[in-house]
Amino acid sequence: MESIRVSPRHLGQMRTGSFCPRCFWYLIAMKFRAPFDMGMPGIMYHLDNFEKRIVEAHFKSHDSAPKWLKKLGCTAPVSFPFKMTQEFPKLGLTLVGMPDAVFTKEDGSLLLVDYKSAKYKGEDDPFLPCYETQLWGYAQLLKANGIGNVTSAALVYFENQLAEYKERPLDLLTNKGLQVPFEVKLHDIEIDLDALLPLMKRFRAYADAATPPEGREGCKNCVRLSGLLDVEQVRRNSEKTLRNVDSSISRTIVQSMYQNRHRSTASGADGWEDYLVDGIASDADSMPAAWDI
Ligand code: SF4
Repeated sequence: MESIRVSPRHLGQMRTGSFCPRCFWYLIAMKFRAPFDMGMPGIMYHLDNFEKRIVEAHFKSHDSAPKWLKKLGCTAPVSFPFKMTQEFPKLGLTLVGMPDAVFTKEDGSLLLVDYKSAKYKGEDDPFLPCYETQLWGYAQLLKANGIGNVTSAALVYFENQLAEYKERPLDLLTNKGLQVPFEVKLHDIEIDLDALLPLMKRFRAYADAATPPEGREGCKNCVRLSGLLDVEQVRRNSEKTLRNVDSSISRTIVQSMYQNRHRSTASGADGWEDYLVDGIASDADSMPAAWDI
């Protein structure tokens, strides 16, 4: 069985309200490299990176976590391998992931943290089940790779406060450009490692399905998608028809040349036409017949 690499985020996608089994089936088949995928915008990448750097820098210069993170009881940052993996041979899956940050706690166990550059919506966040699963997956990987046991986890939201400056945008102006304030909000996550196995089994079932499952009911994109596939079908059919027409015309020409050749052989002629017919006939033999296409 082919081992598929699966990230905790992919497992988490199956738990969101907007999950579509059909889309997911295609994504697995494409190894999660979807066409028209724009990737993460540069600014988000820099923000994510900056959030990690702020915490690291604070530990280095103050030997402690920033005030807002201290509440979680972290004592020191923990190093871990760049990308951790765990094999699940019976399922043919390899769990792959890299947490944002891990810290030790006073009791020696681990605190796992994931930074989010987003507005904090609490329990109303539609992506919360996905984020939660991400942390379960990282906790599993930290345990399997011998880094330690995660006993608590949290999402750390960096929420921009731009909305508060709607009426006074000039307050954000500085001599060098503008400065956007961020506020940090924490959301505790309960670790549930037992919930991972059923998700992995479900993932394997999608990967093994020979045909795509039904799509999400009422999805407008699916109507557009079938329109796109219809256009593609028309294009393929017309290409096939053109090839068939080409091939049948060539055969007719070659057949008539063969007949001419037989006629000229019968009359004892051995001119340039024979060489030409031989050449075209051998080309035509390597050409697929219309019904072969
Ligand atoms: S129903 Fe929507 S989400 Fe599902 S496959 Fe179709 S386009 Fe994708």
